[in-house]
Amino acid sequence: GGASRPADGHPRPPAEPLAPGDVFIAVKTTKKFHRARLDLLLETWISRHKEMTFIFTDGEDEALARHMGNVVNTNCSAAHSRQALSCKMAVEYDHFIESGRKWFCHVDDDNYVNLRALLRLLASYPHTQDVYIGKPSLDRPIQATERVSENKVRPVHFWFATGGAGFCISRGLALKMSPWASGGHFMSTAERIRLPDDCTIGYIVEALLGVPLIRSGLFHSHLENLQQVPTSELHEQVTLSYGMFENKRNAVHVKGPFSVEADPSRFRSIHCHLYPDTPWCPRTAIF
Ligand code: UDP
Ligand code: MN
Repeated sequence: GGASRPADGHPRPPAEPLAPGDVFIAVKTTKKFHRARLDLLLETWISRHKEMTFIFTDGEDEALARHMGNVVNTNCSAAHSRQALSCKMAVEYDHFIESGRKWFCHVDDDNYVNLRALLRLLASYPHTQDVYIGKPSLDRPIQATERVSENKVRPVHFWFATGGAGFCISRGLALKMSPWASGGHFMSTAERIRLPDDCTIGYIVEALLGVPLIRSGLFHSHLENLQQVPTSELHEQVTLSYGMFENKRNAVHVKGPFSVEADPSRFRSIHCHLYPDTPWCPRTAIF
């Protein structure tokens, strides 16, 4: 209902120091996107902290395994179906719990993660408390029908963070989700509301556990106009994306150093903006 929502999740003073090894970033991908999308991420943000990132895919890839230790073949179907995507989220969740890390973050393979901004944001919350942070794609709670038993349904409504912008969950909250998310339970929970994986997370957290989503303007999907992210504020953004929006190419506006033709996603240019010491970033000569 009209309960007040927590304010936009801007980083606050640190609640606890956080090291890269405290965070588990799950990247959801599929075999046909290993070359088309994942390689770009491996060259850019993933290269900065490989120990933070785990790739969840659906097919073997020797080239990828040579480049990266943390690759999980989920054995989920490679279809874009609700079931296949929930299957991957279930495997991500189980690996996170197994890892013992403080924070779980989920992103798609068309997301750029600004690792420094992510660590800054998460460090401002205690990982032992209930924290679910991300950006909704709708302007109101989603209305769903929950199957409570064989022949009984009831309406539910809840907010969820859109998977395409990425979201994070504290370990404290993730452990409470276990009855509905661990083992095979995530798939059956998703079937109870017949909604995609990111909605199912919102359903478990908001509707079943009563923990409100913290909305953050620092997560970005290609469902929003990415041109509106100011270059001067790139350092603070936690995730960025690229894709199509209303049939037009949608990407962050950054001037250089690479042209739009050479770097249509703008991820290489963003990476050079955030990490100018990267060997392949063109340097301005200093004499
Ligand atoms: N994806 C997947 N299996 C598929 C198709 C897509 O796991 O058969 C993943 C893809 O790698 C990405 C996410 O699902 O991480 C969203 O896919 P995409 O960006 O193509 O679609 P969107 O939902 O953003 O329009
Ligand atoms: Mn996408």
